[in-house]
Amino acid sequence: MPKAAVVLLLFGLTVVLAVLLASQPAPPPLPVELAVVVLDAGHGGPDPGAVVAGVEEKDVNLAIALRVQRKAEALPGLRVVLTRTGDVYPTLDERLELAESLGAKAYVSVHANYYRDPKVCGVETWVDTGAGRESLRLAQALQEAVASTTGAPDRGVHRQTLYLRRTPLPTALVEVGYLSCPAERAKLQDPAYQDRIASGILQGILAFLGAP
Ligand SMILES: [Zn+2]
Repeated sequence: MPKAAVVLLLFGLTVVLAVLLASQPAPPPLPVELAVVVLDAGHGGPDPGAVVAGVEEKDVNLAIALRVQRKAEALPGLRVVLTRTGDVYPTLDERLELAESLGAKAYVSVHANYYRDPKVCGVETWVDTGAGRESLRLAQALQEAVASTTGAPDRGVHRQTLYLRRTPLPTALVEVGYLSCPAERAKLQDPAYQDRIASGILQGILAFLGAP
């Protein structure tokens, strides 16, 4: 075969191969990616957090975190991992390390608030002073959703120096209500109200994960 013919043949084969490859059907979509979110029930063990009229913040935080985890079990694409499931105190670094070791998409810490003025009531969300765009987006989503599902006063997102600065993950701390506000303290112990808070936290997490 003349050299020119060989070149032409090779060229032709390349074109045919390219056309075949290009016409391959698209691969089936991958199953929904599993997102891990670490949810932290603030305080625990020897650290009760705020204590008002015998109500300990650590117990309220844990009850809500457990409810969020239970609700999330119905969602195949999401796994909510808790930093504690009982009355124990993992250090703050241990809590963050858990989130990092799992490659968590977000770390959310659940707290109940205290203020000397009992008239101050409502939901607020905190980010670290150095929080980036993603932490702010997470905080906004949580704040909006929890204020909405509870109907509690929406006290907005605030910045404060927090241990959350020790991780690069998106992080936010939700203060789900004031134990120092008598009406809210009663609600925070009510399973139905805890459930509304839990729905709000879950909605906020999903809104954050769904809109990158
Ligand atoms: Zn707290």
